[in-house]
Amino acid sequence: MGKVIAIDGPSGAGKSTVSKLIAERLGFEFLDTGALYRAAALHLRRMNMLDESPDADISRVLDGVVINFKNGKVFLNDEDVSEAIRTTEAGHYASVFSARKVVRDFLLHSQQDMAINNNIVAEGRDMTTVVFPNAWKKFFLDASEEGRAKRRYLQLKEKGVNVTMEEALRDVRERDERDSSRDIAPLRRADDASYIDTTHLGLEEVINKILEAIGGGCQPIA
Ligand code: C5P
Repeated sequence: MGKVIAIDGPSGAGKSTVSKLIAERLGFEFLDTGALYRAAALHLRRMNMLDESPDADISRVLDGVVINFKNGKVFLNDEDVSEAIRTTEAGHYASVFSARKVVRDFLLHSQQDMAINNNIVAEGRDMTTVVFPNAWKKFFLDASEEGRAKRRYLQLKEKGVNVTMEEALRDVRERDERDSSRDIAPLRRADDASYIDTTHLGLEEVINKILEAIGGGCQPIA
């Protein structure tokens, strides 16, 4: 089993960018679990599944599907869906379907398997609580609602998605409400996770705080 740095937090707190860079600096693999949920949601929508679809239908539609995260890209069966999953609609449905046990169970083992032979930085909503409760290091990244909406807005704009600041704010609000209030694996801070408020911090400052807490500086960890 490799070392796991587990990072959770609400949408727009900066988890993905920070986790990716930490992984690069430490020579770890990066696992973006939101991308897995987005890919599963994309598949479910393509197969006409809706919020109210019964578990049995969702389970049948996911049966035999392979979702992988490799070298920063996400694959749905053999299709590279890295771009297709970055719409606000895919984010919305990822949040809707990820509240379903059948979907969480479907993705659980592929997330845990990543750590069998690799040191990883895994980010999502339940890395520190459910998927890697015994992670080597745990962090909870947070930011004010406005700060997170602004980050989400800029990310989507950069990807060429047409969105207003109000839509970005509504998106983070709705998803965080759903992600925090669901019955299974809700977003919450683990007692043993270090809390970092990123609202007024630059990217390097957040990275340095995490590296300091890990105690490895910028040296790759063997
Ligand atoms: O992180 P990202 O915004 O890409 O995640 C999309 C959605 O996937 C989240 O809003 C959340 O509902 C779901 N998710 C989850 N558990 C994770 C990662 C993401 O439920 N570990």
